[in-house]
Amino acid sequence: MAVDLEPSPEVAALAGRTAKFIRDVVIPIEEEHRGVVTSDEVRARLQNAAKEAGVFAPHVSPEFGGHGLGMLGRAAVFEEAGYSLLGPLALNIAAPDEGNMHMLEAIATEDQQERYLRPLASGEVRSCFAMTEPAPGAGSDPGALATTATRVEGGWRIDGRKWFITGADGAGFTICMARTSGEPGEAGGATMFLVDAGNPGMKLVRHLDTLDESLFGGHIELLFDNCVVPEDAVLGEVDQGFRYAQVRLGPARMTHCMRWLGIARRAQDIAVARAADRRLFGSRLGELGMVQQMIADNEIDIAASRGLILQACFELDQQRSASQSTAIAKTFCAEAIWRVVDRSVQICGALGISGDVLLSRFLREVRPFRIYDGPSETHRWAIARRVLRRHDKEAGR
Ligand SMILES: Cc1cc2nc3c(=O)[nH]c(=O)nc-3n(C[C@H](O)[C@H](O)[C@H](O)COP(=O)(O)OP(=O)(O)OC[C@H]3O[C@@H](n4cnc5c(N)ncnc54)[C@H](O)[C@@H]3O)c2cc1C
Repeated sequence: MAVDLEPSPEVAALAGRTAKFIRDVVIPIEEEHRGVVTSDEVRARLQNAAKEAGVFAPHVSPEFGGHGLGMLGRAAVFEEAGYSLLGPLALNIAAPDEGNMHMLEAIATEDQQERYLRPLASGEVRSCFAMTEPAPGAGSDPGALATTATRVEGGWRIDGRKWFITGADGAGFTICMARTSGEPGEAGGATMFLVDAGNPGMKLVRHLDTLDESLFGGHIELLFDNCVVPEDAVLGEVDQGFRYAQVRLGPARMTHCMRWLGIARRAQDIAVARAADRRLFGSRLGELGMVQQMIADNEIDIAASRGLILQACFELDQQRSASQSTAIAKTFCAEAIWRVVDRSVQICGALGISGDVLLSRFLREVRPFRIYDGPSETHRWAIARRVLRRHDKEAGR
């Protein structure tokens, strides 16, 4: 079957506008803040500028103020936005909000969409997604989920501890995954709850001090202690939380890849500019064979990452499960993007680890991507299991 992965003229135009907006408006602000913004005022300034430029919320349906792009369309636009660390924040496509919007569009009731999705899509509020728990709770293995939700009169009571919850500080609401049946270690039995900011049972314990710093709101440890929510706080159906998590996770994995691919391209551009100008041993740096190899390997990693993203996005747009293609793309991209940034640092020499270019900041920001949205090892384990299952099926076992 012939597959056309070329973006439509409308998507290509939006991607072009996004690239110009990032270059002209976002990168100067990024450089001023060294890639890390913590102020709501700067966030609002960036988002207002994106609205004026007509590039805001490309992934959300027009009903909620966006451009309604499918996954292939997002691939083209998100990569351009990701060219700056602050691009995704400006376009309102940063994690975890972008994945939450996707999930709310897919499974929230109309009332929940009005109450939570509309203000999230407009940038009026931020959100977070609370799944991971300190050991022995949920991490790579979601089935270890230990946070519980028990029925009380008129609703549910949530108890448990979560950590690494990106953006929780200042979020207008939290989507919390809690166990409504079964025991930790058992598959199934999870439910998602919408918990409003200010609920006295949801407490911010601490900001984690982490290698990366650019995701707005930081990474937070949360305590749910007698956190009572009403019946209509249930997102989707009771006990179906893991199924819904897949609605969010597959596309969210790909959008992370798209955004970080933008940073890989930026790193390569910085390295190539240096290699073109710097002279060593009587020639330009970029004419020395080992540097040529690093430049070429960067191009190969960038092109291969883009190809795998497009393949997975094509399947997602066809409403296929895409479990294998998203796992393959996520694993490859997370490692390839790291390699590209690391080689770019190497090409720049000492300059690469200095504050004079943003490469060392990029290095810190992309490293955790090999851990979140499924560590590489978890994905390899799942990929190999599917391959064995396919073999068994073909062998009639
Ligand atoms: C920057 C950052 C932001 C995050 N944001 C969020 C968020 O907003 N919300 C949220 O809920 N969570 C978030 N997380 C948590 C993230 O989803 C978890 O870190 C991830 O699921 C891994 O879980 P864990 O850290 O408990 O590692 P563990 O589950 O303890 O795994 C440790 C290691 O075990 C290895 N491993 C895993 N599976 C296998 C396997 N099958 N075979 C062999 N080895 C394996 C891997 O090397 C893995 O790194 C974030 C994490 C980071 C780093």
